[in-house]
Amino acid sequence: MKLMRSVLVLATFPLVLVVFTGCVTEPSAITGEKRSYGYTWQQELELGRTSDQSLIREMGLYPDDGLSRYVTEIGERVLAQSSLRQPDTPEIYRDLEFTFRVMDSPVVNAFALPGGYVYVTRGLLAHLNNEAQLAVVLGHEITHVAARHASQQALKQQWGQIGLVAGAVIGQTVTGNQNFADQFLGVGGSVFQMLSLKYGRDAERESDYYGVKYSAKAGYEVGESAEFFNSLGRISGKSGQRLPTWRSSHPDPGERESRIQQLAAEMRELYGDLNVGEAEYLKQIDGLVLGENPRKGLTLRGKFYHPDMNFEFVVPNGWRAKNEASRVTLVDPESRGVVVFSIGQGDTPQEAARSFVASSGIQPLRSESARIAGQPGYVVESLVDTSSGRVLLRNEFFSYGKNVFSFLSYSATSDIEIYRPLFSRITSSFGPIANREIRDLQPARLVVQPAKDSAYFKSFIGGDLPYGLDQADLAIINQVELDEKIPAGRPLKLVGQ
Ligand SMILES: [Zn+2]
Repeated sequence: MKLMRSVLVLATFPLVLVVFTGCVTEPSAITGEKRSYGYTWQQELELGRTSDQSLIREMGLYPDDGLSRYVTEIGERVLAQSSLRQPDTPEIYRDLEFTFRVMDSPVVNAFALPGGYVYVTRGLLAHLNNEAQLAVVLGHEITHVAARHASQQALKQQWGQIGLVAGAVIGQTVTGNQNFADQFLGVGGSVFQMLSLKYGRDAERESDYYGVKYSAKAGYEVGESAEFFNSLGRISGKSGQRLPTWRSSHPDPGERESRIQQLAAEMRELYGDLNVGEAEYLKQIDGLVLGENPRKGLTLRGKFYHPDMNFEFVVPNGWRAKNEASRVTLVDPESRGVVVFSIGQGDTPQEAARSFVASSGIQPLRSESARIAGQPGYVVESLVDTSSGRVLLRNEFFSYGKNVFSFLSYSATSDIEIYRPLFSRITSSFGPIANREIRDLQPARLVVQPAKDSAYFKSFIGGDLPYGLDQADLAIINQVELDEKIPAGRPLKLVGQ
């Protein structure tokens, strides 16, 4: 919960983008040869721009300007050596500006959107050991953009609906998917669906190859990246671990590692002494949040808490809660009742209500002042017809702290007598966090410190590890084995607060 918007607004923009031209043939910025794409360059730019905003709302940006500037600096350095920035590069490609972002997610991932958007998560940054590794990751993603791999893939899969994906969140809800609530919880209805689409092995090889090449030209010791690919393999090898998409779309880590080692040897011949950039990199990530950040929201014993904004509300028994950067969605076990908590657009509840009505295009049935969660507020009710029946939408806006919040609840009108009391139980339970310990929760942070003596890695790990992180994870983060002997003085990434 940080960047805010009514959930309905999210639905409105990507629908505009659904123009699948069929086939466009243009010279590749990478190789110069003619290639076929599913989108024109102009459409790719538009797709990137709108999906970027939707990604920010769903994932949130990591709030560290210094780190974000640093990642941008390395990205630009690699980009400057890429085929997008050569004197003979066609102008449409050469003029493309890139945006590099650090996302506030513990999942290890890097990805790109068409039109020059490259993302790394804080989870990924924690797993890198030096600037050279970061450069290769960024170079890989820059190549996906430059080679227009998403657009090529779109053509192959006839995925005309790419722009629809984000819109599906409520688009499908209101147009009538039987289990409409699942649209909110599954990956089915979000921009992530687009990101999880695989580019194919050839595209990945091409990105590895040029990513390594551009990084070496930018002065980096690219052999370092083989170590990181090895740790990606270790992450996905751990049982029960969610497979990071960056890894899942890049098969054969072993083959990849040896291919990169070979390429790195060639690069050394070509460019001589190359830079690893360990000290600079570790300085930048010292203090990085590690694992889930409880201050951004957690569900515990029947309640949702947001320590950063100091509020809590009830999550009824059996209901699922999904916490995203811009909203919290609660869905009942039958997937027939939904409550979406988010921040309203406007300075007063009435203003937020007005902006909601205007942006959603909904005809209010009722629209009036009311007391909500003990606060002065404003309520809007409307009926929406869907193919699976009529839905009653109730949106309650109220002021709390510096914000206007909103509870949007809905179910089929035929179910409303069942859900009304539950909805009201949730909204009326809203208030400041009573439990001081929960209010003061702090995330774990990465602390960089040199090994005092030569010892096995596991002897450096303290007792208290944050939720979801074990000793083996910490070894992977450091790109070492638990029983590996660490020489005195080697910098280690350990856990602190
Ligand atoms: Zn890739």
